[in-house]
Amino acid sequence: MKNQFREQIENLIEKSDLHRLHNKSGELHGHFCNYLSYGVVAGLYAIKELNVSNTGMEEIVAIVETNNCFVDGIQMVTGCTFGNNALIYRDYGKTAVTISKRDGNAIRLVLKPSFDDSREKEFPEAYGLFYKLVARREQGTPEEYGRMMKLFSEMSIQELNVPPDEMFNISKIKIQVPEYAPIFETIKCSICGENVMKTRIVEKDNKSLCIPCAEAEYFELNGNGIISNSGK
Ligand SMILES: [Zn+2]
Ligand SMILES: [Zn+2]
Repeated sequence: MKNQFREQIENLIEKSDLHRLHNKSGELHGHFCNYLSYGVVAGLYAIKELNVSNTGMEEIVAIVETNNCFVDGIQMVTGCTFGNNALIYRDYGKTAVTISKRDGNAIRLVLKPSFDDSREKEFPEAYGLFYKLVARREQGTPEEYGRMMKLFSEMSIQELNVPPDEMFNISKIKIQVPEYAPIFETIKCSICGENVMKTRIVEKDNKSLCIPCAEAEYFELNGNGIISNSGK
């Protein structure tokens, strides 16, 4: 099935055009960095190896084990996104992805620890600025920020030349693919009147409430991973 929205990406995949796929991923991600490139390389490798195309209707699923920059490369190349339910997030904190066909034939790629650990030595200035300006949140000059973005951008492009088997430990596996995302009924919250997916309604004092109105516990995905909040 041809899909007009995916056609451009599918063509780039067909031609193994890493550089253009990387550019497209930058449109989504907002900047270029090395982890974005790793996602692009992993996504292209798996799609080629599995010999699939994705029209954005869950023909394939991507199970990611991190929520860092890597995932935006995966989303753009594979077409498995948060919004189309073909992206599954497991909060393991690993730069790894399993891309699977519906029949369960899958490929898992995990960033090689030796490769990951070597990047700092390979790109000392970029990492130095990153630790200062991002990790320690120290006040930097506009020139330092500019320099950091430029270095990461260059590094991002350079990393595309690394062969996938030097970057990743790659294994062919068979997995149990999660079912297609079900469609749930909508219920109105008795307090705020907003429409809520039935499975997220909380019954309290004989009323059907949304999570904030019930001050119930919920989960949030943020920079820390999946976090439980009390709702109060
Ligand atoms: Zn990034
Ligand atoms: Zn409510």
